[in-house]
Formats: sequence, C-alpha cells, structure tokens
Amino acid sequence: MKKELLFIVFICFAVQRILTAQIADQKASEKWDPRLTEAWEVAPKIVTPGNGTSAPSDAIVLFDGTNLNEFTHENGTPAQWDIKDGAMTVKPNTGAIFTKKVFGDYQLHIEWRAPVVVKGEGQGRGNSGIFMQSRYEVQVLDCYNNTTYSNGQTASIYKQSIPLANACRPPGEWQTYDIIYTAPRFNIDGMKTVPGYVTVIHNGIVVQNHTEIKGTTEYIGLPKNIAHGDGPIQLQDHGDLVSYRNIWIRKI
Ligand code: MG
Repeated sequence: MKKELLFIVFICFAVQRILTAQIADQKASEKWDPRLTEAWEVAPKIVTPGNGTSAPSDAIVLFDGTNLNEFTHENGTPAQWDIKDGAMTVKPNTGAIFTKKVFGDYQLHIEWRAPVVVKGEGQGRGNSGIFMQSRYEVQVLDCYNNTTYSNGQTASIYKQSIPLANACRPPGEWQTYDIIYTAPRFNIDGMKTVPGYVTVIHNGIVVQNHTEIKGTTEYIGLPKNIAHGDGPIQLQDHGDLVSYRNIWIRKI
C-alpha cells in the first residue's frame, strides 16, 4: 500500500514538473521578437499569371497554335503533324514528335482532345501520350465510356500507376493536363539515387499525386532505370487523330 502511495505521489510530481516546464517555454516564446522567425533573404521572383490557362510571363511557349517550330521528329526532320484552327493533330504513322529543347524538372500545361468520331475501343480509342524526358508516359486516351486496364487508362503513368480518378470529358472536347515533374537523379556510376516523381491534374482534378516513377514506360515487361540527363518532351503517334494545343512549360 505504501509503495502504491509513493508511486502516485511520484507521478503527480512528474506531471506537475512537465506542466510547469511547458508553461515556462510558452512564456519564453511569447517574449520572442516575431522578426526572429521571418525570412527575407530570398524574395520569390515576380511572375505575371496568364489569363485563364494561357502562359505565365516566365513560361516557354512550346505551341501557340501557329507552327511546330519547337518540335521535330526523332530523326531531326521537321515535325509533320497537321495544324488547323490553333491545334496540332497527330498525322498517323509519321511518328512521335519531340521538343527541340530538353528539360529536367518542370511544370507543363498541355491541352488535348480525342477525336470526335469515336473509333475503336480500349487502348485503340484516342490514344496518344506525353513522355517526360522521352521515357515516362502520362497516358492520353479517350476513357469516356471506354474501359481498359486501369494502369493504362487516361492519366495513368502507363503500366505503373492507376490514376486517382477518371476525369475524362467526352471525345471532341478539350481537356487539360497540368503536370509537375521532378526528374530522377543518378550518381556517376549510373545508379538511380532519387526516383522521379510526377503530379498530374486532369481537368482541374488531381489524378496523380507526387507519384513515384518506377522507371521507363514499357509496353512489355518491367520498367528500366538507365541513367540520363535532361530530355525532350515527346508526344506519341499511336495512330489516332488526337489533337494538342496551348502547350507551355516552366522550368522548376
Ligand atoms: Mg499512349
């Protein structure tokens, strides 16, 4: 009984000491000068936002609807996709197109439209894709009333990550992707030390949230991790008449 009493007294004493210390800390912090926790040294640069989804002042405009000067085919020949009414459209079987500039980490805005004439099903309906650094695909696909494997549907990281939602608009309507991409890092021995990450917002809805990229996009087999530096953005020719417009990028 005596032991129990002593234990209770000890606990009460300990609690009282903790509370006293906390009150003392609080009183001390109340005496701090608020300026001690202010950071002034690095002022964010001024960026003028665009109207709606138009490019902000520090963006590189990759496609403004008038020409394909910022793109090329893989073999270095001029991009042949069709331009009409401010949009570019895949010219089937001419091949993917690539930005002439290469990029590391970035924020990319891109708008796309699946053909209004619905043709095919599953992966065969309005298929294209945006390959970050020409290796990692954010899928473009018409998944409006169209079923396919979940890790291959619209806004999937193809065969790696199922999107958090199907935010597709009907075919023929313009859709937006806002992609925030952090490139993987490799050491001098070519080993990946930090994975790539991607966040995708589809029509204003978060569908990939800081998703880890497991490696290259592979149709068959597992992702691969081969060291690389900055790379172009690649738009896929999957044989469907997918269109793109209003493409701009901000390096991060
Ligand atoms: Mg694709």
